[in-house]
Amino acid sequence: MSRDTPVKRQFGHRARLALSPSEVSKTDDQAHAARTLWNLLHAWWQMMPKQERTLQHADAAIRRARKDIDFLAVLPAQAAQAVLKTYFRAWKNCWEHRADAPNFKSRIRTVMSVDIPQGRDLNIVRVHRRWGMVNIPRVGRVRFRWTKDLPVGKHANAENRVTGARLVKDALGWHIAFRVQTLQARPEPHQGPDIGIDVGITVPIACSDGETYEHGEWLTNKEKTRLLHLEQRAAQRKQHRKPGERTSGRLHRTYDRIAGLRAKAKRRALDWQHKTTTAIARTYATVVVEALTIPNMVKSARGTIEAPGKNVAQKSGLNRSISREAWGRTVTLLTYKTARYGGTLHQVPAPHTSRRCSACGFITPGSRESQAVFVCKNPDCGWSGNADHNAARNVLHLYRTGLALVPAAGRAVVRRAQRVKPAAAR
Ligand SMILES: [Zn+2]
Repeated sequence: MSRDTPVKRQFGHRARLALSPSEVSKTDDQAHAARTLWNLLHAWWQMMPKQERTLQHADAAIRRARKDIDFLAVLPAQAAQAVLKTYFRAWKNCWEHRADAPNFKSRIRTVMSVDIPQGRDLNIVRVHRRWGMVNIPRVGRVRFRWTKDLPVGKHANAENRVTGARLVKDALGWHIAFRVQTLQARPEPHQGPDIGIDVGITVPIACSDGETYEHGEWLTNKEKTRLLHLEQRAAQRKQHRKPGERTSGRLHRTYDRIAGLRAKAKRRALDWQHKTTTAIARTYATVVVEALTIPNMVKSARGTIEAPGKNVAQKSGLNRSISREAWGRTVTLLTYKTARYGGTLHQVPAPHTSRRCSACGFITPGSRESQAVFVCKNPDCGWSGNADHNAARNVLHLYRTGLALVPAAGRAVVRRAQRVKPAAAR
């Protein structure tokens, strides 16, 4: 392919919906119906003999259920079809060893969501600098927060369009996630400098050229006080509840408020992460990061009951900060953003990057004087500087000496043991 050929890009864009209380309850009903449909479908699947588990039979069963069960009728036919498609997709993912077998979805643990599989149903219009209008089947026309220019109206064509959407509810309310497809010019190769990045403890992101990316607290002091107060109240109420007694409406409301504050912190963290990774991808041509295996690090600290982990308290603090900075997501964001700006992302093996001196390359005991300060104890060197910058310089050095480990691309495929595929899979 030549450099002039445009590349197809598919991405999601999430926007907050402004729904009235009656619209919220209508959307809630649709989400509950979608979940119930999934559960009915799963029950049907388990009951059916293998040769009967076909898309046609499932479709017929769904049509029957939608006629017989009143509250399932609130779900638009397209959304019901999307549930069916997702269910069969889930089995395919399972047979191809990408995921576990689908299971029943519980009312409390499942994220509430409704699919709008066809873009032409949405009829998106921008009505204000900050607001757009979208059609939600069986709910009506609703407003959403306009924070990104979507290919709609006269900007839409066969290649650039919104192909569908999904409604998702979190602690802050209903959101709409648009599926957008665009055709874009292939980016010019990035001419910027190389950079090594270290995931820091004292500094969230430290670069090898001395640049740092920092952030404040995610919640204001007032919000933190409120969160603590709510958590204490929830704990108190829980303590006074008799065994077997139902959770009270008041306690539920307290839980919702706690979830709301936590979601707010999470959203601010994600915003910071997006802005930072965009800035990095814009500035540098080659970005080198440590290949960290975060799930393993978290696991090894806690240990098991038979073999409890060492230094659990210290490590759990570190784990908290790793999780809080959400390093894995930073890498994912950098992967696609560097590609979009014509750069590349590389991962290098992690061991000793924080203990080795970036000037002479020796590991000397006691060189890391504190979390923040690194002083090389090699008598011929004596380099000193910020410990996080030292690690970032090592990361870049490892890449330059050809130790790149993983050509960064897409998501990792989980390998599982090969099993015999069920007959109905083919
Ligand atoms: Zn040194």
